[in-house]
Amino acid sequence: MNLDLPLKNLSYVTPVYAKRLKKLGLFNVRDLLFYFPRRYDDFSAIIPIGKLKAGETSTIQGKILDVQNRKTFRRRMVLTEALIEDESGTVKAIWFNQPFLMRNLKVGQKVYLSGKVTYSEEGLQMSNPVYEIAKRYLIHTGRLVPVYHETEGISSRWLRWQIKRSLNFTNQIKDFLPYEIRKKEKLMDLSRAIKEIHFPQSISLADDARRRFSFSELFLIQLLKLRLKKKWRLQRAYSIGFDEELIKKFTRSLPFKLTDAQRKSAWEILKDLEKTWPMNRLLEGDVGSGKTVVAGIALLQTASKGYQAALMAPTEMLARQHFFEIINLLKDFNLKIGLLTGNEARIFKKKNNSVSREKILKKNQDGDIDILIGTHALIQEKVAFKKLALAIIDEQHRFGVFQRAALQKKYESFSAVAPHLLTMTATPIPRTLALAIYGDLDISFINEMPKGRQKIITKVISPNERENTYQFIKNEVKKGRQAFVICPLIEESESLQVKSAVQEYERLSKEIFPDLRIGLLHGRLKPSEKEKRMKDFIAQKIDILVSTSVVEVGIDIPNATVMMIEGSERFGLAQLHQFRGRVGRGPYQSYCFLLTDSQAGKTNQRLKALLKINDGAKLAEKDLEMRGPGECFGRHQSGIPDLAMTGLSDISLIKKAREAAIGLIDKDQSLKNYPELLEKLKEFSRKLHLE
Ligand code: ADP
Ligand code: MG
Repeated sequence: MNLDLPLKNLSYVTPVYAKRLKKLGLFNVRDLLFYFPRRYDDFSAIIPIGKLKAGETSTIQGKILDVQNRKTFRRRMVLTEALIEDESGTVKAIWFNQPFLMRNLKVGQKVYLSGKVTYSEEGLQMSNPVYEIAKRYLIHTGRLVPVYHETEGISSRWLRWQIKRSLNFTNQIKDFLPYEIRKKEKLMDLSRAIKEIHFPQSISLADDARRRFSFSELFLIQLLKLRLKKKWRLQRAYSIGFDEELIKKFTRSLPFKLTDAQRKSAWEILKDLEKTWPMNRLLEGDVGSGKTVVAGIALLQTASKGYQAALMAPTEMLARQHFFEIINLLKDFNLKIGLLTGNEARIFKKKNNSVSREKILKKNQDGDIDILIGTHALIQEKVAFKKLALAIIDEQHRFGVFQRAALQKKYESFSAVAPHLLTMTATPIPRTLALAIYGDLDISFINEMPKGRQKIITKVISPNERENTYQFIKNEVKKGRQAFVICPLIEESESLQVKSAVQEYERLSKEIFPDLRIGLLHGRLKPSEKEKRMKDFIAQKIDILVSTSVVEVGIDIPNATVMMIEGSERFGLAQLHQFRGRVGRGPYQSYCFLLTDSQAGKTNQRLKALLKINDGAKLAEKDLEMRGPGECFGRHQSGIPDLAMTGLSDISLIKKAREAAIGLIDKDQSLKNYPELLEKLKEFSRKLHLE
């Protein structure tokens, strides 16, 4: 008997059940033990029958005086009726359409019943109560009762029963969390924690058990990240010397002065590039903080030493914008810059030419392109480099961990030399969280905005102010400015969202702004159409751009001054902040209007945070507080499992887990004295990559 025992080998697990369990991702006894309840029913208070009150959910204990099945004539149902007695009185219990209960409930038996008490003509009764034959160890009644995520054909009742039977196995589990850490952090040992999380003796013990699991997952994550970081350092990279003259020439060529934060980040990156192991750095900076220039410095340094560099963006539009922006930034340096997306291939060398894919691929392979910019086409296509020394990923939060891993693999496959890796994100994230999620990376924070940035006036607009807002937009357009109108997010379906954008476009063109030039942008347009629409907007041939959330990232339109967001309550604060960052990029006072029909206090409270707070990192903290980490940094983005996610809202727990991991690695880098931990770590890392 062991934990790896397949569930189908357990008695009472029929093939049908095995199949259903598989649906829940449960294959062996260990899986079952680690299938934690999502909540508990508190049936722990047992009250005398004489004290039952209608409307309450209660638990009683008594003797069955009578039990029988009865057919109702009109509705053709089977009722099972029982009469239960204790010293204080009797009560009737009724179950609907469960005639088989007769097999379990016998006159004279002592039972526990938990359920809702209702009135009937004959007095109080309990309908469909949970029942349990009295015994020493109760699992369905008379205690905190675990409730699990269920699937068709597998009830919590069944799971409780099987899990209870499997709890004997926990004695075989050696706790992978080292004793000294458990002691220091006052954490339950594993086998106790498993018992308490399923069948807690009190809510506070259930919380302790959960805390132990959150801690151990955070701890495993930190160990993995620290080990990754060590492993990363064993790779070789091109050492790219820092050329002070070159960088000075570049900064002199800019129409503005770099902020101190940009300067510091650029410095950290240039220092990393000099090393003989690859950089693995995250550049974290709010929307509009000027990450592109910093990337430009790294690209320039790399390319002018004769190496190749790549810059990857999440959308074609953004890739194209970067292409032109980088050309412009580096125009004095005579570099060959390429653009490769799913639909386009261009090379810039003194001037910008459209070329065939074959040509750009060939040239890139020959090392004849210095900087290649593109979408994930850069990793999906047969793109080969001759001397790739630097890869930059912009808006990396849009890619997800797995694409990031794919990129790393792809670039590793080119040669024995790994490229320096710089990822950039505007996901504003509190520093501690950043360490937890990106613990294997070095991080540079751009924590200030370029000087002279205006404050964008933000307002929550209720339905009766809509007309005034349209009037306001008309005035702005009259002054020569432009506006965005963002259509509501429709999670369930892209096509619904596109449909609503089309409708909104027609409504605005025909009814609201018949004299203005309106454009439409959404994800279902052909890339060439999207590009045309964006170009027209940039060239001011369009006054108002109606768009779905595709404009969220990076696009720069200095002449746009109004960002109007419909159904704003459906977006996260960080995303709204990103939208807002699309305006106020030029010299004109800009506005962000958050439209909402919602009267819910909580929603408004969330939107109001945007009025008060202009700093992305602070908004992130607020979002975290209000929505929790799961919603803010989805699993897809962070790759962090649910339990640890729960732990992420507890900053002090993250800190402790991280310190414990660092302490342990310092003491025993190979973890050879902790075989169970090493084993668990392997299993955990497999799981993280699989999911
Ligand atoms: P993000 O960090 O969101 O990617 P960008 O790199 O697109 O921001 O920069 C936003 C705008 O700010 C660009 O138009 C850029 O030219 C400008 N910019 C960048 N750095 C500075 C600076 N130090 N001073 C003034 N403007 C700057
Ligand atoms: Mg950017």
